[in-house]
Amino acid sequence: MSKTGADHLKSLRDGREVFLNGERVADVTTHPAFRNACRSAAKLYDFQAANLDLMTFPSPTTGKPVNRCWQLPKTYDDLVKRRNALVGWSRTNYGFLGRSPDHISSSLCGQVMGIDVFKRYSEPRAKALLDYYTYARDNDLFLTYVIINPQADRAKDTSKQQDEFLATAVVDEDSAGITVRGAKMLGTSSIMANEVLVANIQPLKPGEEKYAISFALPMGTKGIKIMSRKSYEAAATSVFDNPLSSTYDENDALVYFDDVKVPWERVFIYKDVNMARAQFQDTWAHAYQNYQCQVRLMVKLQFLMGIARRVCETNGTLEIPSVREALGRLAAYASMVEGMVYGMESGGTRFNDYFVPARHLMYAAQVITQEMYPNIITAIRELSGGGLIMLPSSVKDFDNPELNRLIHKTQKSPATDSMGRVKLMKLAWDAIGSEFASRHTQYEMFYAGAPFVTRAHMFRTFNWQNSLGLVDDLMSRYDVRGRTDTASGAKPASDAAAAQ
Ligand SMILES: Cc1cc2nc3c(=O)[nH]c(=O)nc-3n(C[C@H](O)[C@H](O)[C@H](O)COP(=O)(O)OP(=O)(O)OC[C@H]3O[C@@H](n4cnc5c(N)ncnc54)[C@H](O)[C@@H]3O)c2cc1C
Repeated sequence: MSKTGADHLKSLRDGREVFLNGERVADVTTHPAFRNACRSAAKLYDFQAANLDLMTFPSPTTGKPVNRCWQLPKTYDDLVKRRNALVGWSRTNYGFLGRSPDHISSSLCGQVMGIDVFKRYSEPRAKALLDYYTYARDNDLFLTYVIINPQADRAKDTSKQQDEFLATAVVDEDSAGITVRGAKMLGTSSIMANEVLVANIQPLKPGEEKYAISFALPMGTKGIKIMSRKSYEAAATSVFDNPLSSTYDENDALVYFDDVKVPWERVFIYKDVNMARAQFQDTWAHAYQNYQCQVRLMVKLQFLMGIARRVCETNGTLEIPSVREALGRLAAYASMVEGMVYGMESGGTRFNDYFVPARHLMYAAQVITQEMYPNIITAIRELSGGGLIMLPSSVKDFDNPELNRLIHKTQKSPATDSMGRVKLMKLAWDAIGSEFASRHTQYEMFYAGAPFVTRAHMFRTFNWQNSLGLVDDLMSRYDVRGRTDTASGAKPASDAAAAQ
């Protein structure tokens, strides 16, 4: 039997310390701020159980069906099958669960594919990581991660902040494990994940070893405080009024480790600044986790294209040439992401025994989509006009006979009835204009790192040799006296260019 939604909901009643509006939340699965998000997470596992071929593969150790997000692809076909599972899950939430379980599992897979990197630094830590991957996979765990230190003074190094334990650091160790104290941002899905993977992706300097750690713990571990941001789910007045924020508010939280004990078998990096950098960059972790993001974004953009077109149909603007042109441009953006995903896969490469997506194409998509997403949202807003706001205050207006009559008199469309119009415009607003939507724009702009960071990855991974070789090749064909090669005696392309 594969994991089910009921299994997942049960696993969330583990005594985790979630705080919201000054109070501790007794049970996230029933609390009005989180229960629907938890149900959306549970739905992933019910979908999986109902679509075993699409979504699962047999665990190599237990034979039990577990999600393909744990699969380490050895061939292009493996990669595509795994992508189809990522798409399957994303479609259940229209791409609005950014940190669904397949995100951090992708990171862990990328780390395991590069386990030699861990072994080079520490055999025991490498063994801990491998054992953890096996455990998480065989139990089909939902993991979140916190790998960024809290914003405070970004002009100063991690160790130079006002409080040396602002960022999570080691305070103690003994034969059983280590004790950690401090915060990490920004645990998306923490409220509904089983465990948290902690790491440090930002650069550290020699002398900052106590921050150079990585470990994983169950969310209910004593001392882990999950400080939720405002809940959009709680603020959603009804599903009809807020169809997305009422249901897919995956939440984000500052996670504080209040002198938390971590057993050695859960410690993957211990006080090693080089290993902390290598964890994401020398393995395939960073590329693989963000490849999952692009697959999800592909689905989300397909959904947003549906919103854009339906809004134009509803407003009777679809036949206007400039509107069709605007939709065509939007569709090109969405299709570009789809093409980038296919390109990453068909341009994939071998990494140890595995077949992995092309890293530079993943970073290209990352850089472009960080800029593109806010532009897409603005373009859909431009196509929509005031109809997103010209709406009944809430679903309750339909219950008042007088208002009901006026709603039907005033909400008009050539494509649908007044109920259809209100329903669509409320959905569109929730997707592109609400506070939930605004958080999504911030998410798409930052989840993989600030734009200056992703551009640096692009700079690092692009095939500059090929480009420079082409330039050198041309320049080698002429000199101050003119062209030196002829049609019959063209110079061979430079070795650098040919090798690419
Ligand atoms: C909705 C949301 C969900 C998130 N979920 C998670 C999660 O689940 N897990 C997790 O670990 N993280 C998560 N994050 C955090 C995310 O990884 C970070 O926001 C991202 O890495 C950028 O770091 P930062 O926010 O500290 O921005 P900063 O690094 O402080 O950068 C902010 C801006 O400051 C400027 N800036 C700062 N430093 C420099 C510099 N050196 N050079 C040039 N410009 C600079 C740039 O304009 C930059 O865009 C989430 C973020 C958001 C918004």
